[in-house]
Amino acid sequence: MLKIKNVVAGYGKAEVLHGIELYVDAGEVVALVGPNGAGKTTTIRCVTGQLPIKQGLVTYKEKDISQIPAYQIVNLGICCSPEGRNVFGNLSVYENLKMGGYLIHGKQLYKEQLEWVYSLFPKLWERRDQLAESLSGGEQQMLAIGRAIMSKPSLLLLDEPSLGLAPVVVDQIYEKIEEISHEGTSILLVEQNVRLALEISSRAYVMESGQIRLCGKSSELEKDSYIEQTYLGVK
Ligand code: ATP
Repeated sequence: MLKIKNVVAGYGKAEVLHGIELYVDAGEVVALVGPNGAGKTTTIRCVTGQLPIKQGLVTYKEKDISQIPAYQIVNLGICCSPEGRNVFGNLSVYENLKMGGYLIHGKQLYKEQLEWVYSLFPKLWERRDQLAESLSGGEQQMLAIGRAIMSKPSLLLLDEPSLGLAPVVVDQIYEKIEEISHEGTSILLVEQNVRLALEISSRAYVMESGQIRLCGKSSELEKDSYIEQTYLGVK
């Protein structure tokens, strides 16, 4: 579905990604983990068209999307819930979701998607008329994910959905991510919480300093001694 081939990218003269390779197959949850500043968000930006790549190729359903601008990427069925959530604080919960569904053709589909998001996150239904800025951090994360799935993407990019949230809220959010995956949405999940990311994903990539250091089945990476020592705190 998604293929990132030998991608080099960065900001100005600073190269951040030094030729990375990654793929996501249809229906998969794939995790991209690594420390602060490794280049995970930069990778996401290369897929969403927010950052031009300097070298390499990004393909989606066999089509080269490397040069396609961000607003057209959404049309292809790729949506992103960004790091830091970035909901529209001065708009209501419903208005935020409406923004996410602006590409949907047909009232019936729009209604179905909205109902699906509300059934997934009943709190958003309860707070539908409330300003997004008045929501808790966890509720804002739910809204960011809800907004991203409003247009029924085939590929959902999630950037640090657990960031800054209490463990109990993180568990709730992750349950919902699993539900979204079971509905058939492919997911590329960027996480610093390696334990969590390996639990939910079928495969994972470990990124360090703009390079893929390790990749493989999550169940096997969980037992990898380097991962255990570096990321899971096992001595
Ligand atoms: P984190 O988990 O902290 O978000 P990350 O793995 O997502 O880390 P990136 O946000 O991709 O890392 O950052 C990779 C490098 O690119 C860092 O050195 C960062 O300072 C730099 N960087 C990120 N965004 C920009 C930008 N807009 N302009 C210049 N440099 C940037």
